[in-house]
Amino acid sequence: MTPLEVTRHYFEKAARVLDYDKRTKIMLWTPAREVKVEITIETDKGEIGTFIGYRVQHDNARGPMKGGLRYHPSVDPDEVGSLASLMTWKTAVVNIPFGGAKGGVACDPRQLSKRELEMITRKLVDGLHDVIGPTVDIPAPDVNTDSQVMAWIMDQYAKYKGFEPAVVTGKPVDLHGSLGREAATGRGVIMALVELLKSQSRPIEGATIAVQGFGNVGAHAAQFAMEHGARVIAVSDQDGAVSAPQGIDIGALRAHVAEKGSVAGYPDADAMIRDEVLTIDCDVLIPAALGDAITTDNMKDIRARIIVEGANGPISAEADEYLAKQDVQILPDIYANAGGVTVSYFEWVQNIQQFHWSEEQVNKALQQHMTNGFHDMMKYREQYKIDFRTGAFALALERVRSATMKRGIL
Ligand code: NAD
Repeated sequence: MTPLEVTRHYFEKAARVLDYDKRTKIMLWTPAREVKVEITIETDKGEIGTFIGYRVQHDNARGPMKGGLRYHPSVDPDEVGSLASLMTWKTAVVNIPFGGAKGGVACDPRQLSKRELEMITRKLVDGLHDVIGPTVDIPAPDVNTDSQVMAWIMDQYAKYKGFEPAVVTGKPVDLHGSLGREAATGRGVIMALVELLKSQSRPIEGATIAVQGFGNVGAHAAQFAMEHGARVIAVSDQDGAVSAPQGIDIGALRAHVAEKGSVAGYPDADAMIRDEVLTIDCDVLIPAALGDAITTDNMKDIRARIIVEGANGPISAEADEYLAKQDVQILPDIYANAGGVTVSYFEWVQNIQQFHWSEEQVNKALQQHMTNGFHDMMKYREQYKIDFRTGAFALALERVRSATMKRGIL
């Protein structure tokens, strides 16, 4: 299945539970707008470089559309469409007043200089400025895009519409960003895990955790897991993996990555085969890299009893089905990694208020949304006797359906 088909599969499962008719499903599934733009720049070699940028705006019944921007060779309309739809459901699960969108540029940032990345970003805004905006669609960071990219978006947008920092979130803290935003997704992942364990009267202290991907989400999740007393016993990134049964010092590993660019070669842990991080014997697995990390190829080797989806779509639909039958508890992406978009919402609020919140205030409000989201999802799970993912989708579908109907569909 393609990413979009996988999302559709989960959507259908929840729609079945809710007994939706065909028209309701079409209304909720169909994207509001899909945009494709050509981005042509002069490369550092003086050649013509042409890239394709996408923005899919899925739904705005609950508020302006919100979603990240991904720079990766795998970006295509199917993947962006799937991620845009997931954003609609994610913002609804944690009950922030946004809809869903997603964008991306098909490119390999590793092969691009900073100047080339800046040009691509600015030209993307040239192509999209009429369809984004603080009350329309608000981009944010995702894979391979960071606060610098968001700062360029804010600056380029200002050339068309004037000073509007709320057009984009995940900006640098000293340029209208929010304290706590960078760490928010990883922090939220661990808050989600703690909620689940708490509901089963289990502590996080001493739990063994493996983390796939050591970028924004994975590194922060690993850090917070360690700070909560869990043992992070294995970590991977694109270039390698390391393990240590006594637990890895995540602060030291982050310093190593900052210097060397990868977890590979970290001296205080053993090197391991990259993808074996997924199948290592541990209590909790946090896939925090890209989609389709767990598929029919490796699902039977998964030994964790809890999976918290830091990444979007890290488990294929077939693997999800199989793991559910094995009673593996899976906290789904549309709940587990919603911390980032939640603090993006706080950043947007601060930009509109022209006022700064303290980090404590941000983290406290994030905790509230993650806790409420968990209990709201659990109500559906218990009422319909369904897995966490279907529970989260059912909650989200109902919130979006209700908003759409109340606004009216003349
Ligand atoms: P990132 O670019 O900061 O990090 C990605 C990490 O994954 C890197 O360490 C990279 O080396 C690693 N990686 C790539 N391929 C790998 C592989 N095959 N095996 C192991 N590691 C691999 O990206 P990010 O922002 O941390 O996003 C990660 C995931 O989380 C994505 O699915 C993204 O959509 C999702 N997400 C991100 C946010 C956010 O706020 N950044 C919010 C919600 C969801």
